[in-house]
Amino acid sequence: MKALVTAGPTFEPIDPVRFIGNRSSGKQGYAIAQSLRDAGFDTTLITGPTSLPDPEGITTIRVETAADMLSACEAALPADIAICTAAVADWTPAEVQPHKIKKRDDKTPPTITLKQNPDILHTIATHTNRPRLVIGFAAETDNLLENARAKLKTKQCDWILANDVSENVFGSDKNHVYRVTQSEQDDWQEMDKTAIAEKLVTHIKQHLAS
Ligand code: C5P
Repeated sequence: MKALVTAGPTFEPIDPVRFIGNRSSGKQGYAIAQSLRDAGFDTTLITGPTSLPDPEGITTIRVETAADMLSACEAALPADIAICTAAVADWTPAEVQPHKIKKRDDKTPPTITLKQNPDILHTIATHTNRPRLVIGFAAETDNLLENARAKLKTKQCDWILANDVSENVFGSDKNHVYRVTQSEQDDWQEMDKTAIAEKLVTHIKQHLAS
Protein backbone atom coordinates (compact mmCIF):
# COMPACT_ATOMS: atom_id res chain seq x y z
CA MET A 1 0.00 0.00 0.00
CA LYS A 2 1.24 3.45 -0.89
CA ALA A 3 0.89 6.46 1.41
CA LEU A 4 1.47 10.12 0.72
CA VAL A 5 2.04 12.62 3.55
CA THR A 6 2.50 16.39 3.31
CA ALA A 7 4.26 18.14 6.19
CA GLY A 8 5.89 21.33 7.39
CA PRO A 9 5.31 24.91 6.31
CA THR A 10 5.62 26.35 2.82
CA PHE A 11 7.83 29.34 2.12
CA GLU A 12 6.58 31.74 -0.54
CA PRO A 13 9.34 34.00 -1.87
CA ILE A 14 8.93 37.78 -1.93
CA ASP A 15 12.44 38.44 -3.25
CA PRO A 16 15.71 36.42 -3.17
CA VAL A 17 16.05 36.80 0.62
CA ARG A 18 12.52 37.18 2.03
CA PHE A 19 9.52 34.94 2.17
CA ILE A 20 6.04 34.50 3.63
CA GLY A 21 5.86 31.43 5.83
CA ASN A 22 4.19 30.10 8.90
CA ARG A 23 4.94 28.26 12.12
CA SER A 24 5.06 24.54 11.52
CA SER A 25 7.80 22.28 12.86
CA GLY A 26 6.72 19.35 10.68
CA LYS A 27 6.81 17.06 13.73
CA GLN A 28 3.25 15.72 13.40
CA GLY A 29 3.56 14.94 9.69
CA TYR A 30 6.98 13.30 10.05
CA ALA A 31 5.65 11.19 12.96
CA ILE A 32 2.70 10.05 10.81
CA ALA A 33 5.02 9.19 7.90
CA GLN A 34 7.22 7.16 10.27
CA SER A 35 4.23 5.28 11.73
CA LEU A 36 2.99 4.48 8.23
CA ARG A 37 6.44 3.20 7.27
CA ASP A 38 6.55 1.05 10.44
CA ALA A 39 3.13 -0.36 9.49
CA GLY A 40 4.56 -1.44 6.11
CA PHE A 41 3.28 1.38 3.87
CA ASP A 42 5.48 2.51 0.98
CA THR A 43 5.57 6.11 2.20
CA THR A 44 6.36 9.36 0.40
CA LEU A 45 6.81 12.46 2.55
CA ILE A 46 6.50 15.78 0.74
CA THR A 47 7.77 18.40 3.11
CA GLY A 48 8.31 22.13 3.25
CA PRO A 49 11.42 23.50 4.97
CA THR A 50 11.95 21.98 8.43
CA SER A 51 14.93 21.34 10.69
CA LEU A 52 14.07 17.63 10.90
CA PRO A 53 16.30 15.06 9.15
CA ASP A 54 14.93 12.91 6.31
CA PRO A 55 13.38 9.88 8.05
CA GLU A 56 14.94 6.55 7.12
CA GLY A 57 13.04 4.27 4.79
CA ILE A 58 10.77 7.04 3.52
CA THR A 59 10.98 8.75 0.11
CA THR A 60 11.37 12.35 1.25
CA ILE A 61 10.82 15.16 -1.24
CA ARG A 62 11.76 18.64 -0.05
CA VAL A 63 9.92 21.60 -1.52
CA GLU A 64 9.57 25.29 -0.65
CA THR A 65 6.39 26.66 -2.14
CA ALA A 66 2.77 25.48 -2.19
CA ALA A 67 2.92 25.27 -6.00
CA ASP A 68 5.92 22.92 -5.79
CA MET A 69 4.25 20.89 -3.02
CA LEU A 70 1.19 20.44 -5.22
CA SER A 71 3.26 19.33 -8.25
CA ALA A 72 5.19 16.84 -6.07
CA CYS A 73 1.92 15.46 -4.66
CA GLU A 74 0.35 15.02 -8.08
CA ALA A 75 3.52 13.29 -9.30
CA ALA A 76 3.35 10.92 -6.28
CA LEU A 77 -0.20 9.76 -7.16
CA PRO A 78 -1.66 7.19 -7.37
CA ALA A 79 -1.55 6.35 -3.67
CA ASP A 80 -3.89 4.38 -1.40
CA ILE A 81 -4.00 7.06 1.28
CA ALA A 82 -3.06 10.72 1.55
CA ILE A 83 -2.61 12.67 4.76
CA CYS A 84 -2.18 16.43 4.49
CA THR A 85 -0.56 17.83 7.60
CA ALA A 86 1.35 20.65 5.87
CA ALA A 87 0.66 24.19 7.03
CA VAL A 88 0.46 25.54 3.50
CA ALA A 89 0.67 29.33 3.19
CA ASP A 90 -2.73 30.57 2.08
CA TRP A 91 -1.23 33.28 -0.11
CA THR A 92 1.87 33.80 -2.20
CA PRO A 93 3.28 37.01 -3.69
CA ALA A 94 1.78 37.53 -7.14
CA GLU A 95 5.26 38.37 -8.42
CA VAL A 96 8.66 37.41 -7.05
CA GLN A 97 11.01 40.39 -7.20
CA PRO A 98 14.27 39.32 -8.88
CA HIS A 99 16.39 41.64 -6.65
CA LYS A 100 16.28 42.33 -2.92
CA ILE A 101 13.70 45.07 -2.29
CA LYS A 102 15.51 48.10 -0.88
CA LYS A 103 14.22 50.37 1.88
CA ARG A 104 13.16 53.73 0.49
CA ASP A 105 14.55 57.09 1.61
CA ASP A 106 11.02 58.41 2.21
CA LYS A 107 10.30 55.41 4.46
CA THR A 108 7.22 54.29 2.50
CA PRO A 109 6.91 50.51 2.69
CA PRO A 110 6.59 48.41 -0.48
CA THR A 111 3.22 47.01 -1.51
CA ILE A 112 3.17 43.26 -1.95
CA THR A 113 0.26 41.92 -3.98
CA LEU A 114 -0.75 38.41 -2.96
CA LYS A 115 -2.62 35.68 -4.79
CA GLN A 116 -4.26 32.64 -3.24
CA ASN A 117 -2.34 29.38 -3.26
CA PRO A 118 -3.85 26.14 -4.60
CA ASP A 119 -5.54 23.95 -1.97
CA ILE A 120 -3.50 20.75 -2.04
CA LEU A 121 -5.84 18.69 0.16
CA HIS A 122 -8.88 19.65 -1.95
CA THR A 123 -6.98 18.95 -5.17
CA ILE A 124 -6.00 15.46 -3.96
CA ALA A 125 -9.52 14.75 -2.64
CA THR A 126 -11.11 15.63 -6.00
CA HIS A 127 -8.35 14.18 -8.22
CA THR A 128 -9.03 11.60 -10.92
CA ASN A 129 -6.44 9.50 -9.06
CA ARG A 130 -8.06 10.12 -5.66
CA PRO A 131 -6.64 7.92 -2.90
CA ARG A 132 -9.16 5.65 -1.13
CA LEU A 133 -8.69 7.56 2.10
CA VAL A 134 -7.89 11.29 2.22
CA ILE A 135 -7.23 12.87 5.60
CA GLY A 136 -6.73 16.53 6.46
CA PHE A 137 -5.94 18.55 9.55
CA ALA A 138 -7.78 21.59 10.85
CA ALA A 139 -6.03 23.95 13.20
CA GLU A 140 -8.61 26.19 14.84
CA THR A 141 -8.78 28.59 17.73
CA ASP A 142 -12.62 28.70 17.92
CA ASN A 143 -15.61 26.42 17.23
CA LEU A 144 -13.25 23.52 16.63
CA LEU A 145 -15.70 20.73 15.78
CA GLU A 146 -18.12 22.90 13.83
CA ASN A 147 -15.27 24.21 11.66
CA ALA A 148 -13.85 20.69 11.25
CA ARG A 149 -17.19 19.38 9.98
CA ALA A 150 -17.48 22.29 7.55
CA LYS A 151 -13.94 21.54 6.36
CA LEU A 152 -14.82 17.88 5.65
CA LYS A 153 -17.37 19.18 3.15
CA THR A 154 -15.37 21.97 1.52
CA LYS A 155 -12.19 19.90 1.22
CA GLN A 156 -14.13 16.73 0.26
CA CYS A 157 -11.84 14.60 2.38
CA ASP A 158 -12.83 11.57 4.49
CA TRP A 159 -11.49 12.46 7.92
CA ILE A 160 -10.32 15.63 9.59
CA LEU A 161 -8.03 15.64 12.59
CA ALA A 162 -8.98 18.85 14.33
CA ASN A 163 -6.67 20.49 16.81
CA ASP A 164 -7.14 23.43 19.07
CA VAL A 165 -4.24 25.80 18.47
CA SER A 166 -5.31 28.35 21.05
CA GLU A 167 -2.82 26.54 23.33
CA ASN A 168 0.87 26.12 22.57
CA VAL A 169 0.95 23.46 19.82
CA PHE A 170 3.55 24.82 17.42
CA GLY A 171 6.91 23.12 17.95
CA SER A 172 5.50 21.19 20.92
CA ASP A 173 5.78 17.39 21.18
CA LYS A 174 2.16 17.14 22.28
CA ASN A 175 -1.14 17.78 20.56
CA HIS A 176 -4.85 17.42 21.38
CA VAL A 177 -6.88 16.28 18.39
CA TYR A 178 -10.38 15.12 17.58
CA ARG A 179 -10.99 12.73 14.69
CA VAL A 180 -14.03 13.97 12.78
CA THR A 181 -15.73 11.92 10.04
CA GLN A 182 -19.16 12.21 8.38
CA SER A 183 -20.69 10.07 11.12
CA GLU A 184 -18.31 10.17 14.11
CA GLN A 185 -16.19 12.39 16.26
CA ASP A 186 -13.74 11.08 18.87
CA ASP A 187 -11.76 13.07 21.37
CA TRP A 188 -8.21 11.67 21.49
CA GLN A 189 -7.24 13.77 24.53
CA GLU A 190 -3.79 15.35 24.76
CA MET A 191 -0.97 13.01 23.81
CA ASP A 192 2.45 12.92 22.17
CA LYS A 193 2.52 13.60 18.42
CA THR A 194 4.07 10.13 17.98
CA ALA A 195 1.16 8.54 19.90
CA ILE A 196 -1.31 10.43 17.69
CA ALA A 197 0.51 9.13 14.62
CA GLU A 198 0.31 5.54 15.89
CA LYS A 199 -3.38 5.86 16.79
CA LEU A 200 -4.14 7.36 13.38
CA VAL A 201 -2.34 4.51 11.60
CA THR A 202 -4.32 1.97 13.68
CA HIS A 203 -7.56 3.64 12.51
CA ILE A 204 -6.29 3.70 8.91
CA LYS A 205 -5.46 -0.02 8.97
CA GLN A 206 -8.91 -0.85 10.43
CA HIS A 207 -10.58 1.30 7.79
CA LEU A 208 -8.65 -0.24 4.89
CA ALA A 209 -9.36 -3.74 6.19
CA SER A 210 -13.13 -3.12 6.48
O1 C5P B 1 -8.04 25.59 4.97
P1 C5P B 1 -7.14 25.16 6.07
O2 C5P B 1 -5.73 25.66 5.92
O3 C5P B 1 -7.66 25.39 7.45
O4 C5P B 1 -7.08 23.58 5.92
C1 C5P B 1 -6.19 22.76 6.60
C2 C5P B 1 -5.99 21.46 5.86
O5 C5P B 1 -5.90 21.67 4.46
C3 C5P B 1 -4.70 20.78 6.26
O6 C5P B 1 -4.87 19.40 6.08
C4 C5P B 1 -3.72 21.34 5.24
O7 C5P B 1 -2.61 20.48 5.05
C5 C5P B 1 -4.58 21.43 4.00
N1 C5P B 1 -4.24 22.54 3.07
C6 C5P B 1 -3.67 22.24 1.85
N2 C5P B 1 -3.42 23.27 0.95
C7 C5P B 1 -3.71 24.53 1.27
C8 C5P B 1 -4.29 24.84 2.52
C9 C5P B 1 -4.53 23.82 3.40
O8 C5P B 1 -3.40 21.06 1.57
N3 C5P B 1 -3.44 25.50 0.41
